[in-house]
Amino acid sequence: MGRPRVVIVGGGFAGFHAARTLSRLARDRVEIVLVNPTDYFLYLPLLPEVAGGVLDPRQVALPLAKTLRRVRLVLGDVDEVDIDGHTVHYVNPEGTRRRVAYDRLILAAGSVNKLLPIPGVAEHAHGFRGLPEALYLRDHMIRQLELADAADDPDERLARCTFVVVGAGYTGTEVAAQGQLLTKALAKQFPDLPEPRWLLVDTADRVLPGLDERLSRTADRVLRRRGLRLLLGTSVAEATADGVRLSTGEFVATRSLIWCVGVRPDPLVESTGLEVRQGRLVVDEFLTVPGHPEIIACGDAAAVPDVTRPGEVTAMTAQHAQRQGVLAARNVAASLGWTGGRAGYRHRDLGFTVDLGGWEAAANPLHIPLGGPLARAVTRGYHLLALPANRVRTAADWAFSAVGLRHTVSLGLVPGGAVPLDTATPELVRTRTS
Ligand SMILES: Cc1cc2nc3c(=O)[nH]c(=O)nc-3n(C[C@H](O)[C@H](O)[C@H](O)COP(=O)(O)OP(=O)(O)OC[C@H]3O[C@@H](n4cnc5c(N)ncnc54)[C@H](O)[C@@H]3O)c2cc1C
Repeated sequence: MGRPRVVIVGGGFAGFHAARTLSRLARDRVEIVLVNPTDYFLYLPLLPEVAGGVLDPRQVALPLAKTLRRVRLVLGDVDEVDIDGHTVHYVNPEGTRRRVAYDRLILAAGSVNKLLPIPGVAEHAHGFRGLPEALYLRDHMIRQLELADAADDPDERLARCTFVVVGAGYTGTEVAAQGQLLTKALAKQFPDLPEPRWLLVDTADRVLPGLDERLSRTADRVLRRRGLRLLLGTSVAEATADGVRLSTGEFVATRSLIWCVGVRPDPLVESTGLEVRQGRLVVDEFLTVPGHPEIIACGDAAAVPDVTRPGEVTAMTAQHAQRQGVLAARNVAASLGWTGGRAGYRHRDLGFTVDLGGWEAAANPLHIPLGGPLARAVTRGYHLLALPANRVRTAADWAFSAVGLRHTVSLGLVPGGAVPLDTATPELVRTRTS
């Protein structure tokens, strides 16, 4: 009998922390295989700063092989889980289909962009779920101002200087805040252009609808003061190549529709045939799939019971995914007999941070509401602590941006066709279509 093999699908918040914790607990008693389409763990909360030209993209792409010792990284996109055969099938980056058997499986495949059946959105909106999308968006914003400056038609100039973000959750709010600061900084190079206009649209009656109302008030105040137009209680009726029609009937001419309405669990979850709840894999409080003690799921992909809200499941946040990943590893170790009994998922909400760029943020660490530079310091301190690597480089980029230096050239490395809205990442598109 060889060592038991634990296969982890997904190297995001949940999968990364599961692999790291398990490798520390197990040492050489287990073979840990991590299957992920990329060789990096993407620190998603800082992605809006990549789009805003504050951070170099490499700061948020943390090398899996370097940070995870005693873990075998397998580059691949899992397209089938054979539950009875205890085997995972994946397609590697060169399009070859392979498989790997498991004794324990940790499913942590995360989520993908959520689509709504609104005419034109799939064709004309840009999602914000991965590094290619952030890079594309940064280039796109820069290019729009450059093209506007080269255009003679005043209507075209205005449309190219207009940016519409749909979804005022933490992602949309941060993208709008960072994007507006980037275009404002760039506009200084084009003094004849109209001032860039930013609109943030949401059906809810406040920004950051899922979070503490005090955070919403801070974000609302900061964004309005900067001149962003907040269209609350409003949705998108139609998107076209020339603009977007809102539910109010207003047509906004724009070439930039940025779709941040949320995420849905990765489709891999449903393809397993196991029970799902709102697309997330049903698990018990120990993160185990009922009837399958060998399968554990965590993070966005799993419907983990929320003990603080009976009948509900935990929200899709990095905080939950990270803690669930750690617990998944401990429970796997317990199931293999190395530690005591399994533990259930219990958490205490530590609060939330929303970076609004400049010297502003909205945060409620330990539920104490903060705004302004103090919230900003807490937010950045939190990220520096949470980043498993690249801390010095990230801090250096922040120092440069504090004195007004941003990444403001459009490299054009990610073409629009490589970041369609209706799929997770280009890596997945490539492997799924090859
Ligand atoms: C732009 C953005 C900003 C955010 N900001 C915050 C924030 O400030 N605070 C917060 O708490 N939360 C934030 N979130 C949410 C948070 O990032 C997620 O809840 C968290 O990443 C979920 O962790 P996860 O491990 O379940 O999924 P992920 O971190 O998404 O990781 C999933 C991993 O699985 C891989 N994968 C997917 N499918 C397959 C497959 N078929 N085979 C193999 N691997 C696969 C993916 O490539 C990825 O590496 C943000 C999300 C986004 C998109």
